Amino acid sequence: MPTSHCCSCSCSFSITDGDTAFYRTMGVPAPLWCPTCRARRRFSWRNERSLFKSRCARSNHDLISTFPPESGIVVFDRDLWWQDDWDALSYGMSYDPAISFFDQFGALLKHVPFPAVFSARCQNTSYCNHVGEMKDCYLTSASWACDRVLYGNQMISLRDCTDGLGLGHCELCYECVGCEGLYNCVYAIDSEGCSDCAFLYDCLGCRSCFGCNNLRHASYCLFNRQCSKAEYAAELANLNLGSYAVLSQQRAQLITRIQSALHRASRQRQCEESIGEHLIECRNCEFCYNLSGRTRDCKYTMMGGMGLNDAYDCYGVGESAELMYESIDSGANGMHYLADLVVWTCTDVAYSINCHNCQNCFGCIGLRGKSHCIFNQQYSAEQYKALRAQIVNHMQHSPYLDRRGRAHTYGDFFPSDLSPFAYNDTLAQDYLPLNEEDALSEGFRWRSYTEKSAKITISADTLPDQLANELSALAHEVIGCAAYAEKRPRCTSAFRLCAAELEFYQRMNLPLPRYCPNCRHERRFGFRRSPWLWQRECSCREGTHPHGPRACTAPMWTSFAPERKERVLCERCYELLIMG
Ligand SMILES: [Zn+2]
Ligand SMILES: [Zn+2]
Ligand SMILES: [Zn+2]
Ligand SMILES: [Zn+2]
Repeated sequence: MPTSHCCSCSCSFSITDGDTAFYRTMGVPAPLWCPTCRARRRFSWRNERSLFKSRCARSNHDLISTFPPESGIVVFDRDLWWQDDWDALSYGMSYDPAISFFDQFGALLKHVPFPAVFSARCQNTSYCNHVGEMKDCYLTSASWACDRVLYGNQMISLRDCTDGLGLGHCELCYECVGCEGLYNCVYAIDSEGCSDCAFLYDCLGCRSCFGCNNLRHASYCLFNRQCSKAEYAAELANLNLGSYAVLSQQRAQLITRIQSALHRASRQRQCEESIGEHLIECRNCEFCYNLSGRTRDCKYTMMGGMGLNDAYDCYGVGESAELMYESIDSGANGMHYLADLVVWTCTDVAYSINCHNCQNCFGCIGLRGKSHCIFNQQYSAEQYKALRAQIVNHMQHSPYLDRRGRAHTYGDFFPSDLSPFAYNDTLAQDYLPLNEEDALSEGFRWRSYTEKSAKITISADTLPDQLANELSALAHEVIGCAAYAEKRPRCTSAFRLCAAELEFYQRMNLPLPRYCPNCRHERRFGFRRSPWLWQRECSCREGTHPHGPRACTAPMWTSFAPERKERVLCERCYELLIMG
């Protein structure tokens, strides 16, 4: 297997025969950057959660945008952008062979208008970015088909949930992470099909359980102890989750309990020949994360699926799409996506951003229903073919050199230098965190902490321990975040409570939060399984297992780094212990 040395971090990485075949099909050379450096570069272009005050370049009205004003990106109000009374081709540029492709693309990027946020078919939904088919949602990002979801990230088909991360098909949930099909649950982590539960880790099909790990189809269990229905009800009445002190204490205990729980090496269901974390119905997928539904032959791809075939180095892709490379938030009934960002229902579109229903476009921004365009300029099919070949040749023979002198050539994603976002406003900080000093020395931009102008009217520690009856007064308070003094770059320092969330806390009998939505997201992210995989050996020593009194040592790929102390088990030992 040939080994390459990453031209960014100098690590060595392998390129398999299968990889070579994929690159050949996509018509790109094998990458010179390792998978992690490629992911970091790609993620530096994806800001899901940070929103900024900006101004619509059409109506001149104030608005909230995913693009920070200092990025120089021109934004239109989302609805004005989608009107048909303007044409993105009017921003076209001629290709100049004397300037690198990426430099020219960087100029186009600051020229063509973008919608302030990315959303589709939403009603009464505010402060939501990268979302679709949402109703009555608030401050929720990268989500689809949700009703009344507040402060969520990566949510699919949810009803009435607040503060969640990576959930599908859940209702009435609070502070849950990485779960499917929950009903009325509080603080459930990596669990499926549970109802009326709280503080769960890795439970399946449980009813009325509290503080449990690794249970299957159980009910009335309290801290993994079986109770009678009456006993459970009596014990639970003593655990007042309406109290912030109790909720915080239980949260701390959950963290400790997860440390000592059993952990399967990776979460997979109905998968064949796959290596990855949280995969469902995947075949021949490797080093993938959170893919589900008829997905095959993918590698280094995260978030997506639903009929996704042959995708490498992608994030948030799928819906009957194939042959995708180095793309984010793209797909839907199309093929041949290369280095695309928010490109939907397209075929043969490369190095393009925010294009819809296009064919044969290269280096375009904001096009709808076009074909044979380069830098937003219309060409005939023959002209397009010739100029595209010329640009590809140019990209390969005189690559773009970034601030650190690293080359970006044809096949590479857009250089981070050109990204409109600071490193810590993007997914890169979520999945590959850096401190300010390292981010700057790596050539990324950084958003430093700035004192916010909102006048704090009440500090978090003076909020009532339990929800008071007089809620209407609280809606007017500006609460100082409990992490205010830490001056975390993403902390908004103060926050308000919206009417819908007050209603939710009341309905669920939950106390008020003490941290701002961003700090809550960061705390919640700590529960998320890592998308990165390591090869380890199963350390099970259960004498009754087929491996006998010796340790199992079955090789496995896992999202638990080798230095982590938790009990991480191969699938066979995990199943035996769970059933035990
Ligand atoms: Zn590298
Ligand atoms: Zn905060
Ligand atoms: Zn084992
Ligand atoms: Zn074992």
